[in-house]
Amino acid sequence: MIRKHAVRRPRHRVIALAAAACIGAAAVARTQQYGQRSGVTADTSRVKAFVGARVYDGTDRPPIANAVILVRDGRVQTVGPLGRVTIPSDAARITLTGKTVIPGLVNAHGHVGGTVGLEGNHYSAANVARDLRLYADYGVTTVFSLGDDEAAGFAARDAQRTATLDRARLFVAGPVLSPASPEDARTLVARDQALKVDIVKIRVDDNLGTTPKMAPEIYQAVIDEAHTRGLRVAVHIFYLSDAKALLDAGADFIAHSIRDTDVDDSFVAMMKRRNVCYCPTLTREVSTFVYGSTPDFFSDPLFLEYADAATVTALKDPTRQAAMRNSRSAQRYEAGLEVASRNLKKLADAGVPIAMGTDSGAPSGRFQGYFELMELEMMAKAGLTPRQVLAAATRDAARCQKIDGEVGTLERRKWADFVALDADPLTDISNVRKIDSVWIAGNRAPR
Ligand SMILES: [Zn+2]
Repeated sequence: MIRKHAVRRPRHRVIALAAAACIGAAAVARTQQYGQRSGVTADTSRVKAFVGARVYDGTDRPPIANAVILVRDGRVQTVGPLGRVTIPSDAARITLTGKTVIPGLVNAHGHVGGTVGLEGNHYSAANVARDLRLYADYGVTTVFSLGDDEAAGFAARDAQRTATLDRARLFVAGPVLSPASPEDARTLVARDQALKVDIVKIRVDDNLGTTPKMAPEIYQAVIDEAHTRGLRVAVHIFYLSDAKALLDAGADFIAHSIRDTDVDDSFVAMMKRRNVCYCPTLTREVSTFVYGSTPDFFSDPLFLEYADAATVTALKDPTRQAAMRNSRSAQRYEAGLEVASRNLKKLADAGVPIAMGTDSGAPSGRFQGYFELMELEMMAKAGLTPRQVLAAATRDAARCQKIDGEVGTLERRKWADFVALDADPLTDISNVRKIDSVWIAGNRAPR
């Protein structure tokens, strides 16, 4: 970690977002659009050749040494060894010698746009833009938001299929549905479809026995209506029994770890039978108890470089820390993390598809971008190999959220979203922290 954190660049990129929304599809192909917004990639070439890196393309292919990634109009055209790829004479060359390239990280469960400091309900276009830039700062090039998305989030999603993009991509669930009856459920799902959500989101949880849980006939109505309308349903759960009941009801995505007890073989079989993905969000648990004292990562330069200073100060407040230390729910979630880690290992080894996710961006000190890198380390600590972790955070997260036609691997026609690292994460997953540069649609993300 060599970078200083003295200079904090302005993060208000509303204008850029609005500009992106105005760029029509036809204009995208015009060469002069490149690099216009960031001022970092000044070249005007439609074709870029990234040369010399060791490339892990996110598939089962072994890494390619001394590779060329050929990018045209923001998308991957070819990835192969230097000498086997023809580089067009008009291509802009970018040298990445000595770097290891991985696909941009995909967070399958985040939240965007609504949090300022430790408070929610601040949704705005400016916050959406700020958050998407913050994710990109840490190499998270796609975030799938699982709820509380408003118009500005939908607009950001709809503006991102452009070769000029240089912030993280966003997919949205819209409001978290909380229907009062089966009929209400059907109405809300219809509304979700009219909004063009990427997934439907519900919560089936009693928050450690403190709130009523959504009734089975209501979530059954949500799921049935969603499936009738061609939509998938992501479910927030805590208990194994709820997860099983939701799988029986047809749930499509398990958005958190099971934290009350160890998963059993029947759960594994249920997940595998329908190929349902499991999103561990281990760092969500961390955020529930770690601020009982000042966490070690508060002195990590990589954290401090982009973390909101006021939020960090607030989380150091001794009164707040004492309250968290003495909180029974914090203690229970901390215990839940141990269960969650064991369950992740068991499910991953059993072949259940794992989608990296964090629940970052919720107003609880879940620092976007940094928490994804921490999540990868925690997945490794739970017993997954670096290859398993990296697959979960790229290809599999994209597959699980049905966006693998666009992102998740560096294959022909997908967006050229990738991270150049100073060291190989397949040797040690912590090397994902050693970020040299982040590229989105082949554009260098300003950071
Ligand atoms: Zn969430």
